[in-house]
Amino acid sequence: TPTSLTLLGTGAMGTALGRAWLAAGHPLTVWNRTPERTAALTAAGAVAAGSAAEAVAANRLVVVCLLDDASVGAALADADLAGRDLVNLTTGTPDDARTRATWAEGRGARFLDGGIMAVPPMIGAPGAFVLYSGHPELFEEHRQALAVPAGTRYVGADPGLAALHDVALLSGMYGMFAGITHAFALVRGADVALGEFAALLVPWLDAMAGAAHGTAERLASGDHTTGVVSNLAMQVAGTDTLLRTAAEQGVSAELLAPFLDLMRRRLNDGHGEEDTSGLVDLLRTR
Ligand code: NDP
Repeated sequence: TPTSLTLLGTGAMGTALGRAWLAAGHPLTVWNRTPERTAALTAAGAVAAGSAAEAVAANRLVVVCLLDDASVGAALADADLAGRDLVNLTTGTPDDARTRATWAEGRGARFLDGGIMAVPPMIGAPGAFVLYSGHPELFEEHRQALAVPAGTRYVGADPGLAALHDVALLSGMYGMFAGITHAFALVRGADVALGEFAALLVPWLDAMAGAAHGTAERLASGDHTTGVVSNLAMQVAGTDTLLRTAAEQGVSAELLAPFLDLMRRRLNDGHGEEDTSGLVDLLRTR
């Protein structure tokens, strides 16, 4: 049976989430700071509340999708959260989520934090998912409603874990974007069809991404030498070719250099037989 729920925040993401719940037959109460921005959802059958407090009072399940953690505090300042199940899909840091969880629980709510791994057009389509952490029973009880706009991945009771996973996945993505940026800088201007180059790059990156499984195994065992196909000594020897090619093509190596420097440091510390998984140790600042 469809769950009736409240959605605070009808920006680009909130509107996409709201459309998915309405399409699946879930009665939806919405609120947005700028009331006009609820129009798309009210036209699709949502009820607009006059205030955030009123919207919170309408349903036990309250989903929040606002700009940042400060806007969550501002929007919920006057709301009575006692007995509510608060699901916060606003992006923040792990500590933001933990502090917000303590704050919500202090006001009588159960709290679940979420990190949306999708852009609005992906909501309601296969492939999108949301990372969740916090109150386990809240997640179990509302699992079906939460699974409507996107797949669900519960990562633990510590409310900070969804944000941690979210940011870790995004950080991995930006490293990949940095590599893609450097790669195109190298080939652009040469006699290379960029579309054909992309058709080579994408399956190459797909294949290389699988290396993360080996990284996980080596970090877990603490032995960075197992199953290494091209060790650090060999990889560092090759970095000179990467840097000289960048210079030949008139391309700055500023995106590549920090990672190559890290490999060299680890090699100089006597870890030439290892995989790059050992670089993780060099990044810890405490
Ligand atoms: P929008 O900029 O489209 O919407 C922001 C929302 O926050 C609006 O409802 C806005 O209200 C509200 N808001 C901003 N400041 C305040 C405040 N002080 N008090 C009350 N409400 C406030 O952003 P999105 O919908 O795209 O993003 C919402 C959340 O979803 C963010 O945390 C974002 O990181 C996350 N997200 C977004 C993705 C995306 O691709 N868009 C991807 C993954 C996560 P108003 O209309 O009045 O300005």
